[in-house]
Amino acid sequence: MKIAVLAVQGAFIEHEKMLSSLGAECFEIRQKKDLEQDFDGLVLPGGESTVQGKLLRELDLFEPLQQKIKQGLPVLGTCAGLILLANQLSNDEHVYFGTLPVTVRRNAYGRQLGSFYAEQEMKGVGKIPMTFIRAPYIESVGEDVEVLAEVEGNIVGVRYGNQIGISFHPEVTDNTAVHEYFLSLCK
Ligand code: GLN
Repeated sequence: MKIAVLAVQGAFIEHEKMLSSLGAECFEIRQKKDLEQDFDGLVLPGGESTVQGKLLRELDLFEPLQQKIKQGLPVLGTCAGLILLANQLSNDEHVYFGTLPVTVRRNAYGRQLGSFYAEQEMKGVGKIPMTFIRAPYIESVGEDVEVLAEVEGNIVGVRYGNQIGISFHPEVTDNTAVHEYFLSLCK
């Protein structure tokens, strides 16, 4: 199983370590020629969505990746990655890939105080630790979007077809359950 990890900015190494520990082969997407190989899944890591969105355009990665996601490539978007997938942001005019029909609020818990820890159930995954870092949450979901997790009444995890979007960072914990769930979608 070969998983591509977007590595233009943010917390990508942690995802690679976790996926490798589960037996997946990982490689980094940094430039267009990295997309010449076939792969079974894509991770969009946390970081700064505005920076990532800009780099995706500048590096000519935006369209090919958007195309692959639209065609059903399994994708795990964490935090900024969720923002890149969302088809609407409630407090920002940008839309990036726009392949996931949800409305996301950026820095929803405040810019400075937005980092916290919770333990909560995620559907299909179990009870897991959740680390939030200047996190977004999902304000509303479109038709056929399955809510996978909520924390204090806010949606923090969804699935829509092969797209998983979560507002927290499973890669900074030692719990591999979310990555195992993601790999089960990648064939
Ligand atoms: N606050 C960041 C953004 O809006 C996301 C934070 C993160 O990925 N940990 O892009």
